[in-house]
Amino acid sequence: MSESALREQIVRHGESLFTRGYGCGASGNISVVLDDGILVTPTNSCLGRLDPARIAKLGPDGTQLSGDPPSKEAFLHQSMYRARPDARAIVHLHSTCSVAVSCLADVDPADVLPPITAYYVMRVGRLPLIPYYRPGDRALADAVHDVARSHHAVLLANHGPVVAGKALDAAVYAAEELEETAKLHLLLRGAPVRLLTDEQVAELREVFPT
Ligand code: ZN
Repeated sequence: MSESALREQIVRHGESLFTRGYGCGASGNISVVLDDGILVTPTNSCLGRLDPARIAKLGPDGTQLSGDPPSKEAFLHQSMYRARPDARAIVHLHSTCSVAVSCLADVDPADVLPPITAYYVMRVGRLPLIPYYRPGDRALADAVHDVARSHHAVLLANHGPVVAGKALDAAVYAAEELEETAKLHLLLRGAPVRLLTDEQVAELREVFPT
């Protein structure tokens, strides 16, 4: 896909995510990999009103090549790409239910959400929790890098999810599945829930590896 087509794809997905309530204000950011660098949504930009020409382009060493200044969270994306050479796109959201789950005290930090549905297991798999770091703290990059080597989706504590995919569509769909599963998890809290069994999860992981 050409760089201009990828720019348009970022704009379309950003507008779609924003319109459906997956982001508010200037929260959330999207990136895709190019042959000669990455495209990242600009700092303080609203995902619902992106301009394809103003999306930031960074070279392989992080130098800005064109567009507006990149998101202050671009280092998260760069860290995840270093950990996952096959990733071609990353979506980071402050989507309400995922953030709510990232604030729960009683979760398993190795895998925050239980296997409620097959599609969650197929598109997200396991979801480790990264400890809280203040915005902009570069120690967060190392924490994400270590965990992202074996997981394409991570949840930043008291912050939100970061999801990588082999294409932008895949990263967006996985981020949406994660948010919907977080919503289901919150809806079901306190109710007796029939989760997928270990055998059912193992079968899904074998047939649909993430
Ligand atoms: Zn963020």
